[in-house]
Amino acid sequence: MPKVVVVGAGNAALCAALAASEHNVEVTVLEKADQGERGGNTFFTGGGFRFPYNGIEDILELMPDLSDEELAKIEVGSYPESAMRSDLFRVTEGQADDGMVEHLVRNAYDTVKWMRDRHNQRWVLMYGRQAYEVDGKLKFWGGMITEAVGGGEGLSDRLFSATEEAGIEIQYGCRALGLVVNEQNNAVIGVKVKTRESTEVIAADAIILAAGGFESNVEMRTRYLGAGWEFAKVRGTRHNMGDMIRAAIDIGAQPYGHWSSGHAVAWDLNAPPTGNRRIGDLYQKHSYPLGMIVNVNGERFVDEGADFRNYTYAKYGREILKQPLGVAFQLFDQQTISMLRDEYRIREITKAEANTIEELADALGIDIGGLKQTVEQFNSACQSGNYNPAILDGVKTEGIEPPKSNWALPLNQPPYFGVAVTTGLTFTFGGLKINPKTAQVLDTDDLPIKGLYATGELVGGLFFHNYAGGTGLMSGAVFGRTAGDNAAQTVVS
Ligand SMILES: Cc1cc2nc3c(=O)[nH]c(=O)nc-3n(C[C@H](O)[C@H](O)[C@H](O)COP(=O)(O)OP(=O)(O)OC[C@H]3O[C@@H](n4cnc5c(N)ncnc54)[C@H](O)[C@@H]3O)c2cc1C
Repeated sequence: MPKVVVVGAGNAALCAALAASEHNVEVTVLEKADQGERGGNTFFTGGGFRFPYNGIEDILELMPDLSDEELAKIEVGSYPESAMRSDLFRVTEGQADDGMVEHLVRNAYDTVKWMRDRHNQRWVLMYGRQAYEVDGKLKFWGGMITEAVGGGEGLSDRLFSATEEAGIEIQYGCRALGLVVNEQNNAVIGVKVKTRESTEVIAADAIILAAGGFESNVEMRTRYLGAGWEFAKVRGTRHNMGDMIRAAIDIGAQPYGHWSSGHAVAWDLNAPPTGNRRIGDLYQKHSYPLGMIVNVNGERFVDEGADFRNYTYAKYGREILKQPLGVAFQLFDQQTISMLRDEYRIREITKAEANTIEELADALGIDIGGLKQTVEQFNSACQSGNYNPAILDGVKTEGIEPPKSNWALPLNQPPYFGVAVTTGLTFTFGGLKINPKTAQVLDTDDLPIKGLYATGELVGGLFFHNYAGGTGLMSGAVFGRTAGDNAAQTVVS
């Protein structure tokens, strides 16, 4: 039977493996981590997926258990394909690869249905993170409204169960080092791997690379993202070292995408250097649109209300790294504190509470005079309006730089609450070029490399400058399914 080998065992890889297994091929997954550390970045995610939907009917296809009582309390609106397409181009400043965006947008809904109907994946609405109560109803916002049941861990567990059910073999503790090419026809015919015992070549008729980006490789991230990135914390797995990006480039694959950038967020100042599997994504601090962000001098440096957090959080982590000591503080008062996301209620948080701005500054280590002045200027710049966190409400500041363009409430209702954050790097944007319709890896002449496919974070071209929340998992699944289908169909034909 022809053999398809998949490198990596995150969401993208396992979607590829499952799609390939629907054809008459043997599928083997090679995973660098041991079984106890499996799941890659996927395990650490919130499990949020972004896909277009036309209304509640499409959501009900994924969540048929929603009761009438629940339905009466929610408003999901709609998120047409045109909105997703324009969001992806808007946040990437028009740089996203047209073909990749088109393939993703067109296949996203069908792929979440496929994951559910064929491979037992389960979804719920993101009540806690993507909805605010307005006029007695929970209004969902921002184009990403569903998450996998149990978040990234639940998603990952069900993907592994489906993989086992499909009879796919997974070799753990097996690090892919390089690709073997048949010099007669330039086809990729094997993967060189290292286990604890030996180094060997695993032969394959087709290989799908899904081994993540290079965020955990301090040398690569400093080389490509720039000076200072040595100091960023890594939000997820310690295993994504860019091995397969380099291996593919070594045999002629084309580098593609925004190599000097990555997805980086506000992350607890005292989080460990790489992800903690118990805490998962809860070190993130994403409710800043409800408050104010300052640096250690007490100065603001971004527009906290420029857009929904889904469209700013992935680029604001980079701005924190540029601040003195690479540290920032998010400040809130009693007007919004009850709306903070779940991640503000964990024990492992670097926080302070105080009755005055001076005491808050002192407790967090912010320059007291600097913060007092910033808050006074900010408060007098706030214009009146109808505050509504579920829409871009236009309640803004005037006459200060940077402005706060939406949700600008004065910080004046004590007790005040503040958290200390630094930069948490999620994944890197640079990677390999693929043909979006087949997921085949392209060489530097834009020609497909025979036998080689790719999906997930190691593919470049979709993300530039910024990112729309929930696109990583969705694109890994779409291009994973495409890669699995095409790799398997090609080797059986
Ligand atoms: C804290 C956090 C929260 C996130 N939340 C979301 C979210 O809610 N929604 C969303 O869309 N995205 C989210 N993301 C981004 C998300 O992780 C990715 O988009 C997605 O999981 C990437 O999947 P992947 O399969 O490409 O990579 P991974 O899941 O990282 O899988 C790569 C796998 O390859 C393995 N590997 C690496 N090198 C080798 C090698 N040489 N040989 C063999 N195996 C190797 C790794 O061990 C790993 O298992 C989040 C990320 C983090 C870190």
